[in-house]
Amino acid sequence: MQNGDAEDGKPKRGQYEGPDPDLAEMLERDVLDSTPGVTWDDVAGLTEAKRLLEEAVVLPLLMPEYFQGIRRPWKGILMFGPPGTGKTLLAKAVASECGTTFFHSMFLLLLWLQNGVERASVWCGACLILQELMLQVQYSLMRLILSAMPGGEHESSRRVKSELLVQVDGVSNSSTNEDGSRKIVMVLAATNFPWDIDEALRRRLEKRIYIPLPNFDSRKELIRINLKTVEVASDVDINDVARRTEGYSGDDLTNVCRDASLNGMRRKIAGKTRDEIKNMSKDEISKDPVAMCDFEEALTKVQSSVSAADVERHEKWFSEFGSA
Ligand code: ADP
Repeated sequence: MQNGDAEDGKPKRGQYEGPDPDLAEMLERDVLDSTPGVTWDDVAGLTEAKRLLEEAVVLPLLMPEYFQGIRRPWKGILMFGPPGTGKTLLAKAVASECGTTFFHSMFLLLLWLQNGVERASVWCGACLILQELMLQVQYSLMRLILSAMPGGEHESSRRVKSELLVQVDGVSNSSTNEDGSRKIVMVLAATNFPWDIDEALRRRLEKRIYIPLPNFDSRKELIRINLKTVEVASDVDINDVARRTEGYSGDDLTNVCRDASLNGMRRKIAGKTRDEIKNMSKDEISKDPVAMCDFEEALTKVQSSVSAADVERHEKWFSEFGSA
């Protein structure tokens, strides 16, 4: 038994063992704790992806007796697309839509598939959706991933991947409920680099959903979602901003909105001393609504972060391996 194992033999949250405690803490903070609360409505556009995820993940959990035999749920679902397009957000929405009880037995693993320094940020989020009984498997996977982090990149990511496959296959094949029906085990994975996934893993990720850059309507929705918590001046032309941000990812657009909404404050504090700033009332700082001129300025500062070549590569992979 490892350090931190509880009396019932299952490790509790916050007690992971591994050579990299910072990473364990980050996973816990960013993944487990930040998940609840995101709903489908927080995700702009991506209607087809939401429908597929609802059908592939949420419904089988709501009516497991229906999803048996030929209707058995997909073993693995992969979301792929350029960075910042909402894959993690969708995974979080799935977790919330599945309900909080379920969420506790759901797991999101970030696997850094390090193919070299320039790829250090490559990640593949794998979310193992397991029932209570499988917690042990989740933790053994977590330990494996933590122990595989830095160091021999190729070797470690291969080990992680093959162990993931073995575990998932083992659990899917062997687990049944008390009434003899099969337990539902799914892997929800996300990556910005689908072409780095080897054939064995790709085969297990049977449903492969493309998460593209937002189109015009999705960009409008994204801008609206982003501006929900601030006052917006009547001169703000959302259509115009959406038109001028073709090629921007959801994340880029969020940055545009964030930058624009900070502009009023920048104007207010210009030329003031620290003390004067400290003594400004809350109202005084925040009363300026975000105006079109703020967007004009933000648009000159925030550029699209996704290259046309990257989009092209995703589309090519989609036409070869994606699911409609
Ligand atoms: P990915 O996992 O695809 O790299 P994320 O899901 O982490 O991207 O998105 C990063 C941020 O960008 C989100 O937290 C959100 O603020 C914004 N964002 C991206 N896509 C969307 C979307 N479709 N709807 C709403 N917000 C989005």
